[in-house]
Amino acid sequence: MSDSEFAIDHLGIAVKSLAAAKTIYETLGLTISQEEEVAGEQVRLLMVEVGESRFELLEPTSESSPIAKFLNKRGEGLHHVSLRVPDLAAAIEKLKAKGIRLVSDQIKIGAGGHHYIFVHPSSAGGVLLELVENSHS
Ligand code: ZN
Repeated sequence: MSDSEFAIDHLGIAVKSLAAAKTIYETLGLTISQEEEVAGEQVRLLMVEVGESRFELLEPTSESSPIAKFLNKRGEGLHHVSLRVPDLAAAIEKLKAKGIRLVSDQIKIGAGGHHYIFVHPSSAGGVLLELVENSHS
């Protein structure tokens, strides 16, 4: 395991409207993915390619979506930081041993088949931290 296997996979940004939010990136000439829906998280999302990392624009598909709750409370803005790790299961084991608070106990599987889990902001300097396994292609 080398440090280079760690990276900022993406920054998650909560928005009211994907169509409105993507305009700035389109205008700048960045490559934007097709919209995809993640039913489990009740969001529609777009990925914006930014060098070796990405922005993940998240729009809620229902009022009970975590993103809808975030928007109601805080308005649009940075929602989470996603850190790519070489071995997610091993990372979680180490964090749990240290008493780090996770948002859920289970590893979740995203639309692209990647595995992820969220670390609670109270254990990550106020940042909602997503850990994702190194399956980015
Ligand atoms: Zn994310």
